[in-house]
Amino acid sequence: MRIAMMAAEAAPCVKVGGLGDVVGALPKALERQGAAVSVIVPRHGAGSWEGSVAGRVPRLDVPMGGRVERADITEARMRGSAVRVYAIASRKYFDREGVYDDPATGEGYPDNPERFLFFMRAAVELVRALGVPFDILHCHDAHAALVPALVHPRYAPAGAGDFARTGTLLTIHNLAHQGICPPETLDHAGIAARHFHPGSPFEYWGRLNFMKAGIELADRVNTVSPTYAVEIRSGPEAGCGLEGVLAGRSAALSGIVNGIDYEEWNPESDPHIAAPYSARDLAGKEACRRDLRAFFRLEERPVPLVGIVSRLADQKGLDLVAEAADGLLALDLQLVVLGTGQRKYHDLLEAVAARHPGRVGVRLAFDNALAHRIEAGCDIFLMPSRYEPCGLNQLYSLRYGTVPVVRRTGGLADTVTPWDGARGTGFLFEDYSAGALVDAVRRALGAYADRDEWRRLVVRCMRQDWSWERSARRYLDLYREIRRDDR
Ligand code: ADP
Repeated sequence: MRIAMMAAEAAPCVKVGGLGDVVGALPKALERQGAAVSVIVPRHGAGSWEGSVAGRVPRLDVPMGGRVERADITEARMRGSAVRVYAIASRKYFDREGVYDDPATGEGYPDNPERFLFFMRAAVELVRALGVPFDILHCHDAHAALVPALVHPRYAPAGAGDFARTGTLLTIHNLAHQGICPPETLDHAGIAARHFHPGSPFEYWGRLNFMKAGIELADRVNTVSPTYAVEIRSGPEAGCGLEGVLAGRSAALSGIVNGIDYEEWNPESDPHIAAPYSARDLAGKEACRRDLRAFFRLEERPVPLVGIVSRLADQKGLDLVAEAADGLLALDLQLVVLGTGQRKYHDLLEAVAARHPGRVGVRLAFDNALAHRIEAGCDIFLMPSRYEPCGLNQLYSLRYGTVPVVRRTGGLADTVTPWDGARGTGFLFEDYSAGALVDAVRRALGAYADRDEWRRLVVRCMRQDWSWERSARRYLDLYREIRRDDR
């Protein structure tokens, strides 16, 4: 099975959120199961890149409407594997400080639709130029969602015949970002204006929508957890306006929960944490707690440490955290938060820290090493998301014996089960309210107070298997179904 993956991020070169983790890990797991995978990403100025000029295809002329834009291609191997990573460089589109957002404004770059359309066209041209008979083009999120249209016999610019034997899969990581833009953008795609009309895959309330086109035209569509796959076709809140389109493709829509990269996230060998530990020997976790308290200048007291690592966005339930903060801190605990994002949450969190010196630590940054130290040094991990396609931090938390307290939504509902003293791995709440959040943390503290019960829970969390192997098998099954399709 030969797969070409297309995505805007791939860890460790470039990562903004979970998408980067997935694209950095799934290809290696697929390769371990016999697939040959190539990954195609934009070479963002924001990333740290290795690799040299691609031997076979060093550069491409990419048609963009009436113009031609140049793409320079580098090639590298994904660490510890034979997976090829092709990075598409463009001074015009990707030589910037941010990946999606301009750090100067905190807003998305105004030309994002054009930037990612260039990426998609370059990726398709690259696949064609490589001449590899790929079975599947696996497209991730809106930044690659127009690719099924670019290779579709009805819509494709010249050359769709090259893809007659190639299937397409669209994976939705986050439906909130759809690539909605003026219809004229279709011209850059080389797709004739006559294809834009109400009822066509491209039209969405008079505008072009990359994600909608991908959902309608990919052979299969999946999301990153079974519950999110149900939620997004059930109503406007999770469906973000595409619930009808998704319901129309129910037969082609499934959910596969993400795994995690156990080479990167393993408390027995993690170079970022103060001391290694394991489910057999938890002693090192105490050193990790001390390290975290020292870093955040928290009082040295034996109270449970509660952690948050998150993009500071509405999706992640930060408004609940701000509202619940004083209620939470009326309990005997300490809180640390690592995140970056919307200004209003920066202000809210800084205000909470200022009100509770010595008990709350806030670091407003993107800091991978500190994310590892928080997973290792905390007792409880908080994820009160409004919605959550999959969520990775709760999986890291399980691995690090940091018991998750989560809202029962999307992938959180699929990966954390309620602890009842003997079974389960965490604490869940249903209502999107500060009261429900505080109540769930209170239940967790009740279990924490019984040291034997807590230890059993921690060990149980750590013994869960959320490695990529099982999910990679599910993706391979899906690829096989697509390949069997009669196109
Ligand atoms: P999302 O993709 O919606 O942001 P996920 O939980 O799926 O959420 O993945 C988030 C990933 O990004 C995790 O690997 C998490 O550790 C990381 N992350 C988020 N914010 C930060 C930050 N401020 N510093 C370091 N890592 C972060």
